[in-house]
Amino acid sequence: MAVAIGKFIWDITYACPLRCVHCYTESGRRPARTLDRDAAMRVIDRIIAAQAKKVSISGGEPLSVRWALEAMRRLHDAGIAVTVFTSGWSMPERTAGALAESVASVAVSVDGADPAIHDTVRGRPGAFERGLRALDTLHRVKLERQASGQGCYTFGIDYTLTRSGAREADLERFVAMAVERFPGLDFIRFGAVIPSGLAAEKDFEDSELLSIDELVGMIAVGQRLAAQAGCEVDISVTDVRYFLPQPGISAVDLDIAHIEPDGALRAFPIYEAKVGNILDESLESLWPKVRAWRSDPFVVGLMESVKTMADWAHTARSLDMRYGSADDQARILQRRAPMRLSA
Ligand code: SF4
Repeated sequence: MAVAIGKFIWDITYACPLRCVHCYTESGRRPARTLDRDAAMRVIDRIIAAQAKKVSISGGEPLSVRWALEAMRRLHDAGIAVTVFTSGWSMPERTAGALAESVASVAVSVDGADPAIHDTVRGRPGAFERGLRALDTLHRVKLERQASGQGCYTFGIDYTLTRSGAREADLERFVAMAVERFPGLDFIRFGAVIPSGLAAEKDFEDSELLSIDELVGMIAVGQRLAAQAGCEVDISVTDVRYFLPQPGISAVDLDIAHIEPDGALRAFPIYEAKVGNILDESLESLWPKVRAWRSDPFVVGLMESVKTMADWAHTARSLDMRYGSADDQARILQRRAPMRLSA
């Protein structure tokens, strides 16, 4: 019987012009592993056959992939709600126009209130200005299409909360700037950086991970920001407890499949464990392996022990080293300690 999976996350490349200290995929510092077009279209066939409702296209920088727009258009035309996550490093007008025909939503990642914070977190000077210029272009294209009666994406800002970027006064001035510069913005979403990839490293944990209590407190901050902004933009803070890796209460049990750039299927979105490759094996065969991994006593025991963000980072490091491929393990061991950002 065909397996049905509601949501896919597909990192379509590990190529990226940025070098974010918290990157979940260590993109830009490892082989891109991008599929060729034909193989990518076969992945899409699998996703459509699984009756997906939502697909998040991420990376790496997904818009650096030549077949990305075609891929998103195919998913979109199949009735799937596609969201693309981009740094906004490059957003020509023609790309924004094509996205209007290819996706339901565009999220531009901005992780600091100004260039000093954002560019340090993102590891490349100019990243903040380029992200805002991308939002300018997305905004302009959306207004033009609306004026001519055409449909368009929703677009907004995906803001990852590190300790460096989470001061309330900074967030206030960022929201004020964003709603003034982009009055047609649909959303600003603040979400905790979670311990995955480089963000699971010990130095990052010590310097940049917020505690669960701090993150829960950010929900009230988000409500204050929304009240102060007093506009149509949907301003929200994701409740991190939803993502805590405890079976029975979190996304652990949801039907979310995470595909790596070469087609490898992860057992769980934020960990390096793989159960096979979607190009070599059917989802009917792979999905029970995902379920089995998630209920493995070692995995469950580690996840159930998580009470703090530090516990979670420890769990992520343990799972990555136990279940990652030999390449993953070698790469993890070679990681340099991420830079310390906080004063
Ligand atoms: S822009 Fe995204 S994919 Fe690229 S390095 Fe930063 S977090 Fe990683």
